[in-house]
Amino acid sequence: MKAILAIHGGAGKWAVDEKTYRDVKKVLEEALVEGFRVYRTGSSLDMITIAIEVLENSGIFNAGIGSTVDVSGSISMDAGLMYRNRAGAVAYAKYPKNPVKLARIVLEKTDHIIIAGDAADNLARKMGLEPHPGPLPRTLELYRNFMEKLRRGEKIESPFKKSLEMWLNIGDTVGAVAIDKDSVLAAGASTGGVFFKMPGRVGDSPIPGAGFYANECGAAVATGIGEYILLTHATLKIVEELCNNTLPGKAIEKILNVITSRFGSNTAGFIALDKLGRVAGLYNTRAMPWGYISEDGAVKILGI
Ligand code: ASP
Repeated sequence: MKAILAIHGGAGKWAVDEKTYRDVKKVLEEALVEGFRVYRTGSSLDMITIAIEVLENSGIFNAGIGSTVDVSGSISMDAGLMYRNRAGAVAYAKYPKNPVKLARIVLEKTDHIIIAGDAADNLARKMGLEPHPGPLPRTLELYRNFMEKLRRGEKIESPFKKSLEMWLNIGDTVGAVAIDKDSVLAAGASTGGVFFKMPGRVGDSPIPGAGFYANECGAAVATGIGEYILLTHATLKIVEELCNNTLPGKAIEKILNVITSRFGSNTAGFIALDKLGRVAGLYNTRAMPWGYISEDGAVKILGI
């Protein structure tokens, strides 16, 4: 089997200027190249973990360093990985700089699937993971502006919708899927969640079958409004379609149609990869920067 790695930087409006466009493209390319470097010796789990770590460290996306804040101005992150019928995830983690590394520890070193909250942070400390430096100035400014608007009494019909829309303009969640030389598939996601969420909120990204899913037929990852992705078990549905030999693009289209008809557009995006190495990325938002790399070395960036 030829190895393939595909990643995304989140579904959203991405009304970006020339510089941001270049930055996004550069980081996606870097994550693909870094993740794929290990394809001869490493597994699909290695590829996606490395790629997601690069995206988390970039500060460009809503994950790791670039994570958004909740209504109290604090960061809390979700991440999950799936590989060889096992999954590992962390929910509502505040301590680690790289939640994807903690998710991998849960997958490899525990008997559980999800570790949440303070216990996740304690585990990260115990395992010697680097601490998160706190929200970026850009994120804090967005938060302060939003609070200011609220204080001025500006009418906000639906804070969740409006604030999410605002957030979707500037950055988003990350995810990756890969198949390795042994034909084993893996999927992973990492996010700061949605801007201005309630403290304690957990989205789709640490839940297998919602934010990510992989089995012997294929792998899929989600981005968008986690509540809708959770309610539709979106990535499980996509991978089930792949098991019926549906093409990845068609499989995504099916669930995207369900999400769009139930919850409206500008709500979700997915990438999916099947066991034959066919890959697709589709979204009902204006953009979703995504790309892939395969053994011929070609790096493709799409969706922005
Ligand atoms: N799906 C993520 C969540 O709801 C957010 C995103 O993809 O931007 O937490």
